[in-house]
Amino acid sequence: MVLSKTIEDSGEHLHSTFASRYVRTPLPRFTMPEKPIPKEAAYQIINDELMLDGRPRLNLASFVTTWMEPECDKLIMESINKNYVDMDEYPVTTELQNRCVNMIAQLFNAPVGENEAAVGVGTVGSSEAIMLAGLAFKRKWQNKRKLEGKPYDKPNIVTGANVQVCWEKFARYFEVELKEVKLSEGYYVMDPVKAVELVDENTICVAAILGSTLNGEFEDVKLLNELLTEKNKVMGFDTPIHVDAASGGFIAPFLYPDLEWDFRLPLVKSINVSGHKYGLVYPGVGWVVWRSKEDLPDDLIFHINYLGSDQPTFTLNFSKGSSQIIAQYYQLIRLGFEGYKNIMQNCTENAKVLKEGLEKTGRFNIISKDIGVPLVACSLKDSSKHTVFEVSESLRRFGWIVPAYTMPANAEHVAVLRVVIREDFSRSLAERLVSDIERVLAEIDARPSQVSTISAHVTAADESQNREVKEKHVQKSETEIQARVINYWKRLVDGKRTGVC
Ligand SMILES: *Cc1c(COP(=O)(O)O)cnc(C)c1O
Repeated sequence: MVLSKTIEDSGEHLHSTFASRYVRTPLPRFTMPEKPIPKEAAYQIINDELMLDGRPRLNLASFVTTWMEPECDKLIMESINKNYVDMDEYPVTTELQNRCVNMIAQLFNAPVGENEAAVGVGTVGSSEAIMLAGLAFKRKWQNKRKLEGKPYDKPNIVTGANVQVCWEKFARYFEVELKEVKLSEGYYVMDPVKAVELVDENTICVAAILGSTLNGEFEDVKLLNELLTEKNKVMGFDTPIHVDAASGGFIAPFLYPDLEWDFRLPLVKSINVSGHKYGLVYPGVGWVVWRSKEDLPDDLIFHINYLGSDQPTFTLNFSKGSSQIIAQYYQLIRLGFEGYKNIMQNCTENAKVLKEGLEKTGRFNIISKDIGVPLVACSLKDSSKHTVFEVSESLRRFGWIVPAYTMPANAEHVAVLRVVIREDFSRSLAERLVSDIERVLAEIDARPSQVSTISAHVTAADESQNREVKEKHVQKSETEIQARVINYWKRLVDGKRTGVC
């Protein structure tokens, strides 16, 4: 009997993977299967299902790195089994993280001596970095209010309405009111004048963005610093600034060294940057650095006695991988200042090729800036027949993932396409994308306008849903209808995608 079982088993191994029974049965989805399957079959099944995902390198929706040198891939695989938190066991890895913190702090002009350790930490991404920076501001503000015998239960934070979703998360998770400066058509970043107007005694910080997620534009941190210094003086506040340099932190120092946005401005107390965006590392690494020890309240640092040594930690998570930190160190020493500069210049040139190609079609308004993160964001000059959402949908057929979305308050009626230019997006891909967009435009021009059908739908839906419209009984103007159509598409598309990052 034992023998017949062996024959059955070995018979299974003789089958090609695709003839085996493992590919004939439905995949387990809800309950862990009873029995194991051969490793080749498990690999093949999962690999095949993943083929249906988009191709990362054609994913122009994301800033996040999709290509690294094979030497670094090797280092990553070799360290994939190291838990970062075991600092006692892997002291060299900890040392590499500290070196990264020092180099990044120097890059951002932190006031630390040449051989002095900077204050900062590696995180999973800018989101965790922002939670930590936000917590430090909240705690500092609370401590000060307590000392003054004033209420400390209504902290708020001032940002532009263009902030990335992680700031909304911070506000909700850590109970801080988010006071957003509204945008307007044609001005898609935080207006420093309006931001400073919103500042009051409960403001824990003003968060400026270096590289707005929506159009890559740098906010004017220098002006913000000036205006806030003035307000602080008049009102007796000491409201600080945080700079969310998730995407721009590895652009500005190389391309615009004279632009003052960082620790050169006295009110800037902390800065975050995503190592996995223009830091050129695969996803899961970010950084937060503080101006000085005084800006990171001591009671947020945990001192763990780990295997006999003191281990200070300030992160939200405990265990995590080491590979990304090692990979960040690789990029910093492999590329150096000059290497990063060349790559960022190249990205900017490719963004220019794309921008000029789009301008030549005569169909787009470009709303990204020449100085900023290398991306191209544009809206259609005429959305009365077709929308950017259709362009985005149609580009999918050519393999391109180009997101379309609407702007936040008060520019919701503007819908844009955004193409992020990364290191691995070459000039020939840029040219190819332009010609594919031209084809898509010709294609949708030939189609009957979906807008009139949609606006009929939308109007019908409005009758039952939109109180405002019912109450006012207003005659809808062309722009209103366009805004509705854009909204209709947005809902449709939002249902399918997770948005931009
Ligand atoms: C990407 C981004 C974030 C979030 O960063 P992750 O590294 O993805 O967590 C926050 N702010 C801005 C401006 C961003 O571009």
